[in-house]
Amino acid sequence: MKIETLAIHAGNHGDPTTGAVVPPLILSTTFERANDGSLVEGRDIYTRASNPNRRALEEKLAALEGGSEAIAFASGQAATMSIFHTLGAGSHVILPDDIYYNTKVIIDTLYANFGLTCTEVDMTDLNQIKRAIKKNTKLIWIESPSNPSLKVTDIQAVVKIAKAKNLLVACDNTWATPFFTKPFNFGVDVVMHSTTKYFGGHSDILGGCVIFPPNIQHEMNTKIRTFQSVGGAVPSPFDCWLLNRSLSTYAVRMPVHAQNAMKLATFLENHPQIEKVNYPGLKSNEYHRIAKKQMIGADGVPSFGGMMSILVKGGQKEALALASKLQIFKHATSLGGVESLIEHRYSVEGVHSKSPENLLRISVGIENISDLIADFENAFK
Ligand SMILES: *Cc1c(COP(=O)(O)O)cnc(C)c1O
Repeated sequence: MKIETLAIHAGNHGDPTTGAVVPPLILSTTFERANDGSLVEGRDIYTRASNPNRRALEEKLAALEGGSEAIAFASGQAATMSIFHTLGAGSHVILPDDIYYNTKVIIDTLYANFGLTCTEVDMTDLNQIKRAIKKNTKLIWIESPSNPSLKVTDIQAVVKIAKAKNLLVACDNTWATPFFTKPFNFGVDVVMHSTTKYFGGHSDILGGCVIFPPNIQHEMNTKIRTFQSVGGAVPSPFDCWLLNRSLSTYAVRMPVHAQNAMKLATFLENHPQIEKVNYPGLKSNEYHRIAKKQMIGADGVPSFGGMMSILVKGGQKEALALASKLQIFKHATSLGGVESLIEHRYSVEGVHSKSPENLLRISVGIENISDLIADFENAFK
């Protein structure tokens, strides 16, 4: 089945007792056993370990990514932690130098006690990756396109380097989502998502997941299932139910995000108050060649997602002034919702930010594109 059909039907088994077409929300934390105390086959025991709404969601997430198993968490950060947790004390990981800010914070603060160390490299320079590999390196972490500079990593090339050294490869696929990039096609071992973003799509559910490929070559999935069910950073049944509902329209939302972003990027690239637009769909973009090979929409045509960043001529002051004059684009963090958002990463990340001070990150929503462009035209005046 194709992604549009899977987004609606995968994991949705309805309800045999009532005939409901939409799966019911089951809030119960505990489930009855048989009279003799034995477990009833196919029935859950306790909702931290498993429950019907989470199982339905995990089935859908695995199907969308083309994987064999998905494990859902209460946030993207909890999903990321589960991966680092499996590596063992004293491990070393290789990260992109513009990795999602809080992924790095997990390593530097929460896992410092475990002796987990990292080297940050420019993932678009394969030699830097090769040079960073140490005896205790266990994993290479990819994020493509990256945040906030929209660098596109050649996933297949990184996997090749990793496999030659027996390293695992994880991919944070939150930005591209399987609609625009399928990391398992390139041999990645585990995909991580913040489902808070495009999968949720409406800026009203926090969540995360890890997904495993069809042929799992490691034991990370069993370790992470334990991390989920015993560690307990699980999404509530309602969050799972709501995310499942949001995913039904995922495949119609994504092409609109991408079409709007392409048009807005083209408009902004030609505007005299803009120094640079980082969007891999632009022919002028330094990552366009690799993006065209790797970012393929559901219709088989290259398509580049809904995220971009712009460098405003001037500095921090000019960037913040532009953001504040926009009416439709809300000045707020996060991304992937139906509404357009703009944010000044440097202010959000603080003094340790590597983001240029004149950079604004834009999450292009699914409003009418002429309204979005008019909003910028007015703000530039
Ligand atoms: C938001 C985000 C995360 C973290 O996810 P939360 O759901 O906020 O915990 C991780 N990676 C990327 C790329 C993100 O955008």
